[in-house]
Amino acid sequence: MNWFKIIKRKIKKKKPSKRSTLEYLRLKETARIVIHERLQFYAPLCGVVYKRVAIRNQRRRWGSCSSAGNLNFSYRVAFLPVELCDYVIVHELCHLKELNHGPAFWLAVEEILPDYKLHIVAIREIEKIGLVLTVE
Ligand SMILES: [Zn+2]
Repeated sequence: MNWFKIIKRKIKKKKPSKRSTLEYLRLKETARIVIHERLQFYAPLCGVVYKRVAIRNQRRRWGSCSSAGNLNFSYRVAFLPVELCDYVIVHELCHLKELNHGPAFWLAVEEILPDYKLHIVAIREIEKIGLVLTVE
């Protein structure tokens, strides 16, 4: 291991300040309320029942769904424009029917959100900006 690697590792391990941790917990709590509200609205429309919901500080994905029927969301989802937040919610709920991105999956998404293709474009734009503007 050289010095560069050691320094890089130390920077990565730097703990967030107490203030940013509290701020994160506050944002996460707001996200929990928003995400649960949207899930409760859309689950019956999608005709699905979800199990455990986890809200995390995940950066790579807005949401994911496990084969056990558990849903994971980044807390950032709740701070997207509402139509994009709803798209992520509906996308994951539809995975409870179809755990893939095949034609039946997209048909299920379209049934609930006919404009979902526009939402995908918009969310990709936000992802590009997100590389610069991350909430920490
Ligand atoms: Zn998906």
